[in-house]
Amino acid sequence: MRLMTVGSVAFDAIETPFGKTDKIIGGAGTYIAFSSSYFAEEQAIISVVGEDFPQEMLDKLANRGVNLDGLQIKKGEKSFFWSGRYHNDMNSRDTLVTELNVLENFDPVIPSHLNEVDYLMLGNLSPQVQRQVIERLNKRPKLVAMDTMNFWMDIAMDDLKETLKLVDVLIINDEEARQLSGEYSLVKAADKIRSMGPKYLIIKKGEHGALLFHEKNVFFAPALPLEEVFDPTGAGDTFAGGFMGYIASTDDFSFDNMKRAIITGSAMASFCVEEFGTGKLENLTKREIEDRIQEFVQLTNFEMVQSI
Ligand code: AMP
Repeated sequence: MRLMTVGSVAFDAIETPFGKTDKIIGGAGTYIAFSSSYFAEEQAIISVVGEDFPQEMLDKLANRGVNLDGLQIKKGEKSFFWSGRYHNDMNSRDTLVTELNVLENFDPVIPSHLNEVDYLMLGNLSPQVQRQVIERLNKRPKLVAMDTMNFWMDIAMDDLKETLKLVDVLIINDEEARQLSGEYSLVKAADKIRSMGPKYLIIKKGEHGALLFHEKNVFFAPALPLEEVFDPTGAGDTFAGGFMGYIASTDDFSFDNMKRAIITGSAMASFCVEEFGTGKLENLTKREIEDRIQEFVQLTNFEMVQSI
């Protein structure tokens, strides 16, 4: 299997200054899988849902080429539910509800025919489950990327540090990087976090773009200035999906290709925020994605005419 994604497939309820949703489909794994499906030809998801999860949504993922053999459906149980409220700046939010439900005792079973993967994307889940997946694969993937969040830093920091030792690329936001490292400066935070295991660190800064750190190299990708941002939920996961999907499809994880992957992830995230939930990510065309990536290229392209 070219790419394996592990992450929540879930229900969300979201409040933004512009509106409020009832229960809609969300989950880190859902956003990652939709996003990477535009790049990675072969992809499987490892996750769990309850009996309440709509088959229609699973069909949509399958139709985008996502192998669901490792997605468990638990009879008589409820899917993971998360609810959040965004502040006026749309960059920060409060978690209102986290009901783990099926995730509480999630045992990530990897079907034997999916046991060898080139690229592994560990979406935001308990660090213990993330580690189990790495350990249960027949051989180590070429590249393991991982997302996490403050929730796990608060309740499972030791576990998280164990998992970090096994990971190549950590993808987190600036607030999480500060909490994980105890450093305010992102440069110092990056040094500290990279000493915990990941050789590469991506720090997402919401509407202020993303930074990639590797050894002494730093790359910055802006976020596209958008007229309207409806719902930032899942933008980070969509970014990660675009990033890993691009790496998997090009089979190249050099620093230069990671720069292209970050721009691809940023382009995918810019679609995600334009609608509530996964709506926008379900039916994009290749042309729309290519045009959006070109907008990023234009955004940062300039020539220095004369040096001082
Ligand atoms: P993001 O906006 O990229 O941070 O991701 C939001 C998504 O992550 C939502 O769709 C939630 O369902 C999911 N999520 C939130 N908290 C957790 C958690 N503790 N474990 C797994 N998934 C979560």
